[in-house]
Amino acid sequence: MNLLKERIVKDGKVRGNNVLKVDSFLNHQMDIKLMNEIGKEFRRRFDGEKIDKILTIEASGIAIAGIASQYFDYVPVVFAKKTESLNIDNEVFECSVHSFTKRKTYKVRVSKSFLKERERVLIVDDFLATGCATIGLIDIVRQAGAEVAGVGIVIEKGFQEGRTEIEKLGVRVESLAIVEKMEDSKVYFK
Ligand code: 5GP
Repeated sequence: MNLLKERIVKDGKVRGNNVLKVDSFLNHQMDIKLMNEIGKEFRRRFDGEKIDKILTIEASGIAIAGIASQYFDYVPVVFAKKTESLNIDNEVFECSVHSFTKRKTYKVRVSKSFLKERERVLIVDDFLATGCATIGLIDIVRQAGAEVAGVGIVIEKGFQEGRTEIEKLGVRVESLAIVEKMEDSKVYFK
């Protein structure tokens, strides 16, 4: 998706060897026009797929999933929660996720009310790195007896193992920009 790649080149900031900051347009300040294009592109990539629900993880995935839903006939968006909130009932699907950027492991949960057997679920997230977050969400979908229709990622860091790990689970991954490497503060795409 050229529009996205151009924006990454213009406004993305490389931190260290392998962290890309896109907080001026994607996950802190948000460019809604660009995010609408991202939503449309996900629809195009998964055209013909029956999608009953979009699943993501808080916080950065929520806006992306919400905007994408508009292009999937406004299907419900569910986000996995990282905190043991009082609002969530005891009946939850749960898994552990190791955070690549925060270097810690935490539990994520989805209420059993919001994922049902045989539903076809599209998972979306802002980044794909090691794959831990997405694999956790795939696990939750499968615990529910639902089906993963695919994974839609805004920015994949192609030099990390996420895609390989997800594909091993038999799940299709569509990334809108795949970063091949980051060197001297520059981003190179596949
Ligand atoms: P994974 O679980 O695939 O290792 O990492 C995915 C999660 O980590 C994403 O939800 C994203 O929030 C965060 N993440 C991983 N790499 C980056 C990065 O380079 N930049 C930013 N901003 N977030 C990242």
